[in-house]
Amino acid sequence: MEQNRNKNPQDNNPEDKRPKNSIWITLIVTVVIILLITSVLNAVSSSQYTATTFSDFLDAKNAGQLAEVEIRTDRIVYLTKEEAAKPAAQQKACFTGLPLGNTMDLAEELHAQGVTVNEQIVEDNSFIIMILYYVGMFVIIFLMMRMVTKRISSDGMMGGFGNNKAKVYMEKQTGVTFKDVAGQDEAKESLQEIIDFLHNPQKYTDIGAKLPKGALLVGSPGTGKTLLAKAVAGEANVPFFSISGSDFVEMFVGVGASRVRSLFQQAAKVAPCIIFIDEIDAVGRSRDSRFGGNTENEQTLNQLLGEIDGFDSTKGIVCLAATNRPEILDKALLRPGRFDRRIIVDRPNLQGRLDTLKVHTRKIKLAEDVDLRKIAQATAGAVGADLANLVNEAALRAVRNNRQAVNQEDLLVSFETVIAGTEKKNTVLTDTEKRMVAYHEVGHALVAALEKHSQPVSKITIVPHTSGSLGYTMQMPEEEKYLQTADELKVELRTLVGGRAAEQVVFGVKTTGASNDIQRATALARNMVAQYGMSDEMGLMAPASQGNQYLDGQIYMDCSQETAALVDKQVKELLDTCYQEAKQLLISHRSLLDEVSEYLLAKETITGDELMAYVNAENKTAEPLPAPEETTE
Ligand code: ADP
Ligand code: ZN
Repeated sequence: MEQNRNKNPQDNNPEDKRPKNSIWITLIVTVVIILLITSVLNAVSSSQYTATTFSDFLDAKNAGQLAEVEIRTDRIVYLTKEEAAKPAAQQKACFTGLPLGNTMDLAEELHAQGVTVNEQIVEDNSFIIMILYYVGMFVIIFLMMRMVTKRISSDGMMGGFGNNKAKVYMEKQTGVTFKDVAGQDEAKESLQEIIDFLHNPQKYTDIGAKLPKGALLVGSPGTGKTLLAKAVAGEANVPFFSISGSDFVEMFVGVGASRVRSLFQQAAKVAPCIIFIDEIDAVGRSRDSRFGGNTENEQTLNQLLGEIDGFDSTKGIVCLAATNRPEILDKALLRPGRFDRRIIVDRPNLQGRLDTLKVHTRKIKLAEDVDLRKIAQATAGAVGADLANLVNEAALRAVRNNRQAVNQEDLLVSFETVIAGTEKKNTVLTDTEKRMVAYHEVGHALVAALEKHSQPVSKITIVPHTSGSLGYTMQMPEEEKYLQTADELKVELRTLVGGRAAEQVVFGVKTTGASNDIQRATALARNMVAQYGMSDEMGLMAPASQGNQYLDGQIYMDCSQETAALVDKQVKELLDTCYQEAKQLLISHRSLLDEVSEYLLAKETITGDELMAYVNAENKTAEPLPAPEETTE
């Protein structure tokens, strides 16, 4: 395959071929435009003359009425004395066809009559002028066309035409090593082999082992996939090519494929190296029409598959790709010998977040009071990019406040900015509203805290945030939890509806504040019924399939209308039951609910510890609940 592809000499330089093509197109268009303009001008200029017959001309000559005559190769243009007497602008020349024969005689005869014959002078002049005129017009039109096509292609409206180079970023040395990537130990371990291979391919080929040509980094946005790929290049000390999958996607068929080809050719020149394709789902989308494929995409994908099969892995090219939507990738990409290794890049756990914070605060001056562990605990669910952003925001805040070092408060405030939007200082809630928000949030928190399986709460606040929430209860997810039982999910449901339950129990009203909770609860209940087989009536049937686990996790119903109706009914029943149970729980702990809510109203923000102090004080005989900050991970 390898040899075949290089047979066609033109293929060696696809990036040169394309711009030349577009110059040709521009040239042709320019010539056509000039021809058009010339013929239009001719038509216009002809109409400035009066067409006459040769007899008219002879009559005028014999009558001695001619003033000037210009004998051209194809016609005679002449001005009668009558016309010549008029002001130049109003003069109208006549023309007539030229009969074959010796024009010299005619010219001499006219000259003898005293008529100005300017045949020679005019012809010379007009020839040069004509050339200048055409060349000038050509240059102007050509330049204009170039400008237009450039503009179009840089706008990306038409992509191709002028500029066809893929935006490949090549770094000779990334300067990033595994030290710069915090956590992600499993991913690093899987990548270690690739690094070793790049260092010493001989070792592997000697034994006859085939090396992986590619690995797929799968994980949510911002978890450090690009960073890891760069670190692999850095550790192996090889060049790093990176391109985004969306760069391959073009309107013109064949452009994407030629970009793929050119990328691999460039890489082959500097092998060993790493090729990193970000967002590979943009090009590697399944050819199955369910996900909306098209010819151009298919062609690009086929080229990519061909290149991956084609390159000689003993040369040391490793192709890494990143995606957060592995399920839409074409199965052919994931076949053995292609991106058969899947490396999961997870959201970091507590230790991972702490390490990430440490990495990013390495170059930042920290005050004495900074406790990164506390920040790591508070940021459950945040990805590396969030934490990097958080640290930077904190540093900016320190500068704004004219301080020399970042202190804990900077970090905490920027945490809220990054994770929850900035505090909205000017949202003024009435006292009643504030009470309701407080009870609502404590409702969530208490249900969570009172349920045995529940995740402990890390923070409750009733300070409104720009994200639109009037307050929130931040749960600290138990990490490293990959399986959840039906009971645990029900607890989650009760926690979600706990806010509304508290409003009902205490005030007997329903507020709009619970809308987000209700949406999330409904989505969860629907998953339980339609996907996890947790409803008795549905049994093990899954009438829905999951769209994307790493993005929105939407599900798509894939069943008859009756089944869909049944699912809806089950979801409603599940939600109703959980809601009643949550209400019951809060009613039986009403005094605790009041106490904590009052405390929250006074303090506006309370921590999980403070909440647990209340809970534990209320019921000493209950099983001791895990203190949130120490045992969650
Ligand atoms: P992805 O490619 O997964 O969307 P990136 O690799 O582009 O994410 O990460 C964005 C930024 O987030 C990185 O430049 C880095 O500053 C930070 N980051 C992400 N994960 C980590 C990590 N594990 N350790 C250190 N920094 C990280
Ligand atoms: Zn709520």
